[in-house]
Amino acid sequence: MPSEQPQYLYKYRQVPGIDDIDVYLKHEGYNAVRKALTMDQEAIINEVKLSGLRGRGGAGFPTFIKWNGIPKNWDKPHYLVVNADEGEPGTAKDRDLMNALPHLLVEGCIISCWAIRSKACYIYIRGEYIQPARQIQKAIDQAYAKGFLGKNILGSGFDLDMYVHMGAGAYECGEESALMSSLMGERGMPRHKPPSAPLPVISGVWDSPTIVNNVETIATAVPIINMGGAEYAKVGTGTPGAGPASRGTKLITLSGHVKKPGNYEIVLGTPVREIIYEIGGGIKNDKKLKFFIPGGSSTPLLPPEFLDTPYDYEALGKTGSLLGSGALIVYDETVSVPALMTRLMHFYAHESCGKCTPCREGTNWLVKIHDRIMAGGGRPEDIDLLLDISNNIFGRSFCALGDAAAMPLAGFFAGKGAIYYFREEYEELIRNGAGGKKRAFAPLQM
Ligand code: NAD
Repeated sequence: MPSEQPQYLYKYRQVPGIDDIDVYLKHEGYNAVRKALTMDQEAIINEVKLSGLRGRGGAGFPTFIKWNGIPKNWDKPHYLVVNADEGEPGTAKDRDLMNALPHLLVEGCIISCWAIRSKACYIYIRGEYIQPARQIQKAIDQAYAKGFLGKNILGSGFDLDMYVHMGAGAYECGEESALMSSLMGERGMPRHKPPSAPLPVISGVWDSPTIVNNVETIATAVPIINMGGAEYAKVGTGTPGAGPASRGTKLITLSGHVKKPGNYEIVLGTPVREIIYEIGGGIKNDKKLKFFIPGGSSTPLLPPEFLDTPYDYEALGKTGSLLGSGALIVYDETVSVPALMTRLMHFYAHESCGKCTPCREGTNWLVKIHDRIMAGGGRPEDIDLLLDISNNIFGRSFCALGDAAAMPLAGFFAGKGAIYYFREEYEELIRNGAGGKKRAFAPLQM
């Protein structure tokens, strides 16, 4: 049950008025900032290293390595950019955190900026997230008024300014290089990556070293500093410091056909079965589980035989899917897989920024073929054509958006995706046409 799982981020989630600084201050608020300001840069980054914290936006990159990447003794401008452009279908954990616990993010930003000695922090918030943006702006204003932001924070000599920047509704702008372009007023398109261009930690916004981290990652700096990295790392899977491990807790968005959908904080490694049947209360109307998507719409679906998989980076990676953004979407026996994939392909084609051919053209072809199949005009060769197109997008597009469109259908490099597990549903639709039935798109349940 959720209440039995340690709640590091959600500790005070249910306290009325916790979004207000006065209430927040009565519940350990800004204690981590006070503590961090007495620690040097290496000590803070070392706590983050001990915690085993990995990027919570989806990629799971070790946070301390990123923070250590800022050139040492760099006295020119450098930045923290918080990626709050949460766009992965099924994902709403950052929205919830910003709405309910905005000071947790502001506090995390102050700690992170102190750790990398950055004097400016930008929070890039998804355009549709109007209420979260208001909540964060209010928290920033309150933090300035109490001396946690601005000049000479709490007499430490450290200056920090924080800005909210709203996106304009493009999924692509959650990709870090497109996000940085958008932040600088350019078109939200991805930029070259290593080896043909430097990482953001070397050259990011305004050609300056930049850390781009997800909302949850930055907020997690607060419990890590409060409790110590080693204590934070006591829960989770894998052995800290001995190869890849998934330590600590993770915010997940549980949605779809479960009785109790919502955002939950779980210990990494909690079995998927426990999340769906205990935390989520089981399948709505006691129907049968058909499959689940573990980490947001871009991650390949998994059938029920994977229910005992621990919800962590390594175990989910071994299934051929991913933990991704922590969006666990549950589907009952009534869902048509081709209909769901049609809906998703429309999403990716619509959101493709158009910069590279494999993604721009490929996602449109995936849509056209799905539409044809759904309308009853599918051809027997269409299934292999879908796989072929997916495999020509995957790994060949400019950024991960193309991969994200290909993976649900075809998995990684001709691996296991929707077509592998539910090919017969495509075959049936193609054989029988639409059968005179109007096949509704499966809604992306939230
Ligand atoms: P990535 O693996 O390219 O990069 C991960 C991060 O690590 C980046 O910030 C990168 O700059 C950094 N990095 C990599 N090597 C580094 C090094 N040596 N030193 C310092 N920093 C280094 O992944 P990505 O394309 O940024 O993200 C892909 C993930 O995003 C997917 O797995 C997907 O789940 C997720 N995603 C999330 C959302 C959402 O709404 N949260 C939306 C779409 C996709």
